Amino acid sequence: AIARGHNFSAGPGALPTEVLEEVRDELLSFRDAGASVMEISHRSPQYTDVHEGAKAKMKSLLGIGDGWHVLFLQSGASMQFHQVPLNFLKPGQTADYIDTGNWSAKAVKEAQIVARDRGATVHVAASSAGADYTFIPSEAETSRSPEAAYLHFTSNNTIFGTEFGAEPLADCPLVCDASSDFLGRPIDTSRYGLIYAGAQKNIGPAGVTAVLVTDEFLQTRMEGLPTLLDYGTHAAKLFHTPPVFAIYIVDKVMDWITANGGLEGMKARNAAKAATLYGAIDASDFYRGTAREDSRSLMNVTFRLPSEDLEATFVSESKAHGLLALKGYRTVGGVRASLYNAVSPEAVDALVGFMRDFEASNG
Ligand code: PMP
Repeated sequence: AIARGHNFSAGPGALPTEVLEEVRDELLSFRDAGASVMEISHRSPQYTDVHEGAKAKMKSLLGIGDGWHVLFLQSGASMQFHQVPLNFLKPGQTADYIDTGNWSAKAVKEAQIVARDRGATVHVAASSAGADYTFIPSEAETSRSPEAAYLHFTSNNTIFGTEFGAEPLADCPLVCDASSDFLGRPIDTSRYGLIYAGAQKNIGPAGVTAVLVTDEFLQTRMEGLPTLLDYGTHAAKLFHTPPVFAIYIVDKVMDWITANGGLEGMKARNAAKAATLYGAIDASDFYRGTAREDSRSLMNVTFRLPSEDLEATFVSESKAHGLLALKGYRTVGGVRASLYNAVSPEAVDALVGFMRDFEASNG
């Protein structure tokens, strides 16, 4: 057997082994195509089935219907930082942003570029930057604009290990960067105008970004945008060649999520894994969680050891034990274990076992 480690990578992250096995089995010839899915037209019946299937399954998991468009775009979640305000922040309008980490801050920066060119305003409604992004601001700490075009938030902060427990309050449509917790739990979709997520953490490989937008919100967009940057172009039809291989895997991951209890199943699985790991951190004086307890993420668990030297040893020894990619984000250090959907409970048990042994020999 080929050795696969327990993969705690923050992204691109772990994919279900069952999905990769299916991909392997279909790699040379996809269904009756006589060629792989990468080698056939994106307008072929075989690929159309995959594309439409992935969209329909994603909608069904979220319980959303015809009022929503599912778009599979390229250029990563980072392009959405720009494309969202380009489409939805009109001259004279204000958009609210909640700043809870590096990715939120980048979204703010891109929106400011659009706002400056158009005479619009970006209002940072709340920020935890002053506290090293260790928490999610409360409603009392958030100052919303009276007539915002939308409120943008990052549901899960991949680097800092914090996550919104529930959607923030707003009178306007919510726009969410859900890159690192998309389809990891059910959400109240009625509150949203647009949700985007780079696939490479919870739902597939790198190369495709899922953008879900309501038709109602879409109708409020700016006119006269460059064709490819106008969401309307992609909502109207499959305009150009999509990243077929990435979408093909997303389609399989949708099946895997469904087979494993849908979003309720993912939530139960993710909550149990996170409880195991946070439990181990809290039970020891050696490990110290970095996120405020009420803001802890189910997806990215960040913690420190007593010294940076011990952290470096922890990361290298864990790797030798088949526990992969536990190093914290390069600018913040420490340890980060990403527990995306595909990470198994057994992987977390193995990590916790290693943590106990490491503390026993180094504590
Ligand atoms: N938003 C969040 C929350 C992320 O974690 C990341 C990537 N790590 C991004 C955006 C940027 O995604 P991409 O690399 O696909 O542009």
